Amino acid sequence: MASPSPRTPKFEAIMVGLEWLGLFVFAGLAVSIAAVVASNTMEEPWWLLLLIPMIPIGFLIADLVTGFGHFFADNFCSADTPIIGHALVFRFRQHHEDQLFICTLGFRELNGGLAGLAVPWLGLGLGLALYGGAAATITATLCLSSAFFMASTNQIHRWAHEKAPAGIRWLQKRELILSPRRHAKHHKAPHDIHFCISCGWCNTLLDRVRFWHHLTDFLVFLGFPQAEESVMGTARQRALAEATTTATVNARVEA
Ligand SMILES: [Zn+2]
Ligand SMILES: [Zn+2]
Repeated sequence: MASPSPRTPKFEAIMVGLEWLGLFVFAGLAVSIAAVVASNTMEEPWWLLLLIPMIPIGFLIADLVTGFGHFFADNFCSADTPIIGHALVFRFRQHHEDQLFICTLGFRELNGGLAGLAVPWLGLGLGLALYGGAAATITATLCLSSAFFMASTNQIHRWAHEKAPAGIRWLQKRELILSPRRHAKHHKAPHDIHFCISCGWCNTLLDRVRFWHHLTDFLVFLGFPQAEESVMGTARQRALAEATTTATVNARVEA
């Protein structure tokens, strides 16, 4: 059973407007960058050799960025925190309680927020593309690629929770985008691994070096309010380990 939404009707109305605006501006900027990059490349076709690798690199950047957003929303602040609580934290906390709610969202509600967040990034990309030259055109392509995959993250995440179209299942099976099998690792309590939800390629390395636990320690040190239910960070992990040991000992004594 999902938590009741902290969003007021007025907040919902503002979000609807912002999400549509985000989608339209995103589409306009993305098409403009693609057109300018194509025009720049026509003069120097060999640039394509450098532009094509920007697609997987952009996917990796998007994966990392979504990992940061997801990690923060799961482990810091609360659904009642002004603005980000209503817009970001609530959705992620609700998703742990009701994994399939994401599959009920319409196109605007699912993708509008992230499209809007990617707009400044695309604005930078368009400026670089218009500036021209090899380095600026390549960086503009990277901005476009990473913004596209960032804005597609909720759709990719949703596909990991439902029967996706055949082409998407083909990509999931080959781990070219977030697969249901891998994403299920995050949904297993205590939800402390696999935060990256775009392609999921960053998860293995980040989890292996316990990156999110170290980041939690750093943010707690800076004074960020850790969520009560979060088990991330050295102190929480130690408490969890002690609680598990005590429970094991008690179970043995009682047996
Ligand atoms: Zn989560
Ligand atoms: Zn999920």
